[in-house]
Amino acid sequence: MKQQPKIIIAIDGYSSTGKSSFAKLIAEKLDYIHLDSGALYRAMTLYGLRKGAIGGGKIDEAALVALLPELEVSQRPDTFIFDENVEGLIRQMEVSSYVSPVSAIAAVRAFVDDNLHKMASGGGVVMDGRDIGTTVFPNAELKIFMQADDLVRAMRRYREMDDPGTTFIDVLHNLRDRDQRDSTREISPLRKADDAIVLDNTCMTMEDEIEWLVNLLNDKYGFSL
Ligand code: C5P
Repeated sequence: MKQQPKIIIAIDGYSSTGKSSFAKLIAEKLDYIHLDSGALYRAMTLYGLRKGAIGGGKIDEAALVALLPELEVSQRPDTFIFDENVEGLIRQMEVSSYVSPVSAIAAVRAFVDDNLHKMASGGGVVMDGRDIGTTVFPNAELKIFMQADDLVRAMRRYREMDDPGTTFIDVLHNLRDRDQRDSTREISPLRKADDAIVLDNTCMTMEDEIEWLVNLLNDKYGFSL
């Protein structure tokens, strides 16, 4: 395969729009690194739950922030806390129900942003999240903003869940709640960067999305895919 340009691709958008699956496929196709920033927020939330800083509907912000210096999270490409693979555990509903308020804490965002910058230092990266194109990598060469009808998103997420105690309505409520919190928080709210290209995948398959992206990379960014 011809060597492709090593750019930074930032993918932001609403919950369950398929950002991570899309980013993962792009990274495989381009031989890039994929970084899932939401997985880092989830890993921190899981760690806070385990250490008692989160629980019973409450987040002890000071206790959570005090855990940060000792915490090591990484993506290899699965998400790890120290040497434990937590990729499955971080997708559970208990983590989902706390992750948005956890991610609204300034020290938590600084910790994740710092880790993302370290992991992306070599370029050739596809990163997905809520504020990658606006805050984490405002100079990313390509920014994509993903959206889709919320019922379609909830159904996709519900189908891929392996959690018998969780209903479709639970998933829909959690998704709407996270969209609302993420878009209205003070620090780095979810919003489309002015120079991002919108990808609405309500009626698209993953093959359609990849075809759309390949055309874009070839036509506008000089790739030969
Ligand atoms: O992408 P995912 O749904 O796994 O992200 C979990 C949560 O992490 C989001 O609902 C959002 O609250 C937070 N997040 C964020 N900024 C990012 C990525 C995720 O605030 N860049």
